[in-house]
Amino acid sequence: MSHYPARAVVDLAAIRANVAALADHARAAAVLAVVKADAYGHGLVPSARAALAGGATWLGTAQVSEALALRAAGIEAPVLAWLYAPGAPLAEAVGAGVDLSVAAPWALEEVLAGARATGRTARVHVKVDTGLGRNGVMPGELGALVDAALRAEAEGVCRVVGLWSHLAWADAPDHPTVRRQAEVFADAVRLVEGMGARLEVRHLANSAATLTDPSVHLDLVRPGLAVYGLSPVPQLGGPEDYGLVPAMRVEAELALVKEVDVGQGVSYAHAYTTTERTVLGVVPLGYGDGVPRHASGDDTVPGGPLQVGGRRLGVAGRVCMDQVVVDLGPGATETAGDTVVLFGPGRDGEPTAEDWARAAGTISYEIVTRLGARVPRTYV
Ligand code: PLP
Repeated sequence: MSHYPARAVVDLAAIRANVAALADHARAAAVLAVVKADAYGHGLVPSARAALAGGATWLGTAQVSEALALRAAGIEAPVLAWLYAPGAPLAEAVGAGVDLSVAAPWALEEVLAGARATGRTARVHVKVDTGLGRNGVMPGELGALVDAALRAEAEGVCRVVGLWSHLAWADAPDHPTVRRQAEVFADAVRLVEGMGARLEVRHLANSAATLTDPSVHLDLVRPGLAVYGLSPVPQLGGPEDYGLVPAMRVEAELALVKEVDVGQGVSYAHAYTTTERTVLGVVPLGYGDGVPRHASGDDTVPGGPLQVGGRRLGVAGRVCMDQVVVDLGPGATETAGDTVVLFGPGRDGEPTAEDWARAAGTISYEIVTRLGARVPRTYV
């Protein structure tokens, strides 16, 4: 690999162990590891393989292209893809044995056309909107969609293997919508099975519901964030409270270290000014790499957290496209090439992705998923 002064080190053993912990939480339910968005930034194929080694028996992606990339890598486990627009390569997906979500009549028609084109039976999971107000057929239109799917099943063109939905407030386990959605889903299962569907899997639970609400585990749970060791309910507990270990560590080498005078304005708009003669370090990671610009610092508030030489410091001034500056303090002895940790599991006092999420006013999902493609992933 060509030289790059920063990297994301992904701990595949942590992914394996996280999935094993999720399988324990899920008890009788099977685990579908969600590996969309490049496995939440961790790298699609290595993460998928680690999740399968940890006990996941399914994989899930949003895009059909992500599912096809798994197949192209030789991964044969069941894969469900759930987000596509008209014209998606569904014949290729059916041909590759990818299960497809169906949430509208046009989608069913395109899946069936794909099945006819390849001569293979399409495996379909009908998605019902139980209250999220996002993807999924509305309950009032579910019967007509399933009726059409079952007629195609009778011709051997498709198999309705799944009925599924997604929760709006799983990260607030006591929220009344969780119960309401579970009830709407139970009604939908009764309707669809009453119509003669022979469902293999009914599924509703994301990471938060997998960890906090066994009543919605059903046949299959679909954790994403927790696979990568991050807590989907940080207000209730950190990864360690759920037996999870964050799998990603992002680090860089200092690109420049220099001493400056008191009163030195630092970086764009001089949002930060030194208050004494001090040592500045340049860290070669910026918003072009996914470091959130919202985590910039100024004269009153330090920016996003960094660990340098065992010290916890903050970004000084603005997060730029390719770099941030850190005030290493008077007399600091670091030199160019020394390691700076943006975030990691937190075991050695380094910041976590959750710390960065707080600094940027966002969620840890966004911190790991937006890590730039140009930051090399290395695997341990
Ligand atoms: N299921 C669906 C349909 C999703 O869109 C997602 C991710 O957003 C997940 C499961 C996994 O969610 P989480 O990462 O919160 O576990």
